[in-house]
Amino acid sequence: MTYRFGKPHGLLLFSAVLLLFLSLPLGSASAAVVLLDPGHGGKDPGVKISGSLSEAAFTLEIAKNVEKRLKGGKNLKVVLTRSGDDDLSLDARLKAMEREKPDLFVSLHVNAGFDRKASGFEVYYLGFGGTPEAPADGGAIARDMVKNKVLNESNRFGQIVLKHLDPQFPRGNRNLRDAPMVVFQNPSTPAVLIEMGFTTNQEDRKRLQDPNFPKAIAEAIASAIEEFAGAPGGKP
Ligand SMILES: [Zn+2]
Repeated sequence: MTYRFGKPHGLLLFSAVLLLFLSLPLGSASAAVVLLDPGHGGKDPGVKISGSLSEAAFTLEIAKNVEKRLKGGKNLKVVLTRSGDDDLSLDARLKAMEREKPDLFVSLHVNAGFDRKASGFEVYYLGFGGTPEAPADGGAIARDMVKNKVLNESNRFGQIVLKHLDPQFPRGNRNLRDAPMVVFQNPSTPAVLIEMGFTTNQEDRKRLQDPNFPKAIAEAIASAIEEFAGAPGGKP
């Protein structure tokens, strides 16, 4: 379950910061920072996976497994938006992005649908149609360059995630999808959101309740992050 925004956000305020960002490519001397965002938490449990397992607890387990798997890597620093069953507003998640200035933001969710046949995992990014056309002055051109760079990186990571998740989880014929998710509003952070199957689908639910599943999914996501960052262990 996720939240989308209605009105496109103006990019004007960010232009100075964005110009700086242009000179800070991923893979420079310092470690790449990955901000993992387990969906929901606290008073908001998200969708129910089983009697005792909520989306909030499940996504936290995945995030912790990914963090554990990537710990000690030379070129990667993993940060979580929440490390317990905490209330965390969407605004707080966006603030965490401003604070950490990550090279990659990965939000984790579990889907639910009215159609019980809907199944499989889904990977979202903002998409190239996600922001309005700006007037063509110098600032707009710079902003477009940043926007395209960030979207290209989001798209590149999304494709890598699909590749690594494919052996773990069927997705039918769904490719990388775009949607105006609230957590995609930060214009300088490559960001994707992963919906790890539908709790409303019997087959998916069975998979989600399998005790080996969180580790397998975390392994796939961790490998995808390594590949994206060009870190040791990744296969670019
Ligand atoms: Zn959710």
